[in-house]
Amino acid sequence: MSAAFPKEPVKASNFLRNIIERDLQTPNTQIRTRFPPEPNGYLHIGHAKSICLNFGLAAEYGGHCHLRFDDTNPEKEEQEYVDAIVEMVHWLGFDWGAHLYYASDYFDVMYRAAEALIERGLAYVDEQSAEQIRATRGDFATPGTASPFRDRAPAENLARFREMRDARHPDGAMVLRARIDMASPNINLRDPTLYRIRRAHHHNTGDRWCIYPMYTYAHPIEDAIERITHSFCTLEFEDQRPFYDWLLEKLAQAGLFEHPLPRQYEFGRLNLTHVMTSKRKLKALVEQSLVSGWDDPRMPTLAGLRRRGYTPQSIRKMADDSGASKTNIWLDHHVLDFALREHLDGDVVRAMAVLEPLPLVLDNWAEVFGGQAHREPCRAPVHPQRPELGTRGCELGPRVWIEREDFAEVPPEGLFRLFPGNKVRLKYGVVVECTGCEKNARGEVAAVHARVVPDTKSGTAGADAVKVKGTITWVAAHDAVAAEVRLFEHLFSAEQPD
Ligand code: ATP
Ligand code: MG
Repeated sequence: MSAAFPKEPVKASNFLRNIIERDLQTPNTQIRTRFPPEPNGYLHIGHAKSICLNFGLAAEYGGHCHLRFDDTNPEKEEQEYVDAIVEMVHWLGFDWGAHLYYASDYFDVMYRAAEALIERGLAYVDEQSAEQIRATRGDFATPGTASPFRDRAPAENLARFREMRDARHPDGAMVLRARIDMASPNINLRDPTLYRIRRAHHHNTGDRWCIYPMYTYAHPIEDAIERITHSFCTLEFEDQRPFYDWLLEKLAQAGLFEHPLPRQYEFGRLNLTHVMTSKRKLKALVEQSLVSGWDDPRMPTLAGLRRRGYTPQSIRKMADDSGASKTNIWLDHHVLDFALREHLDGDVVRAMAVLEPLPLVLDNWAEVFGGQAHREPCRAPVHPQRPELGTRGCELGPRVWIEREDFAEVPPEGLFRLFPGNKVRLKYGVVVECTGCEKNARGEVAAVHARVVPDTKSGTAGADAVKVKGTITWVAAHDAVAAEVRLFEHLFSAEQPD
């Protein structure tokens, strides 16, 4: 009897998947998620995690994922960012079909929802200053103090709110607040602000509005309008969930939305060592010209990672392997590098290159091969693990370039590379024995000398007659091509630069 092994690769633990599977037990459930970036900067590696979760889970369970620009804040948002975000989500390999939305397209619904709350005594216009509101909110130990405007009649609140909308009051003169509970142990429920006056030009709605909804008010409404089933967000919104539920429940009671309402679930943020994942901080680097732009190859933006050579597959793999959990995680940069290597390793054809070249002179070349002009053809596999891709040819000559670090005059213990008296194999070529080196006026090694050990060519009968412990890469001086290679270090030397 043969044992059955699961064919599916083991998936990283992901509690969001369990939640979806539970909810799919209810008949006629269609999974609908969204990725809701604020267009105030370029996407970074942390967003990739959210993109892979939202688009990935929706696809896995036959649902849809919306791309929604959360553009409720007029001051920091720009078309350049919208375009860059669209490009990068596509580059990662995801598609939203017809489901591209802008939160600002819902400003009318948000406004009507605010009036509905006011009419039900669930919101009021507060004319206290921002400092007063902050000062009377209380803290963990002390309950908040009610505003003198808290018990104003709905009709009066409605009139005031319309005046706010009609630009009859200066910026900051008053705000609309929810009327929930000034003594709630959750400070987010102590009459949070819903709308503020801000005379600012909006990239989508222009100058049509001078009042703008707060993010925490807008987001649940956006989800409800789009009939999102699972609203996945990062842990910092956990304390906002009671308000999310309160708001949608009240608006459902007012007849604006129908059950089932969207539900919010929080997962841990992904952080990468040696970089920062905050658009605000990355923007500061760009604005202060500390990097060459949002796509500087050292930046943890998706645009920067793409320029540096990371593939979408490697980023998706890293995101998927990191699963979803209830804690923020720090991933070492090597995890991303490893994911890239794993992806490229299977497909990419091989070639030899030397980054810090040092000449190696094979002094007995003419003697072994019958003339200095002889070129010895060598064959190497196109891919070491995929013989079906065939072989490639290259030529060995009397002078080759080797990597400077592959030679040492006095070898450190355990070095299997070139040092006087030692033999190594030139990869896919012959075995050579080091005889010494030349130095320049500064005392640095300028060239290494060696002898070809006859009858040791790779692939011939005698190749294994001489055993060597080291094999080094090389390129022949007569057919090497110069190349520019850019080596990037970490953006920050500190592991957690935040
Ligand atoms: P930033 O602080 O960089 O601006 P943000 O959370 O404000 O991040 P948004 O544009 O609001 O940026 O993010 C869109 C989505 O991506 C949100 O659902 C957010 O929770 C998620 N997200 C942002 N950063 C990370 C991260 N480091 N790990 C996982 N998800 C993230
Ligand atoms: Mg944000």
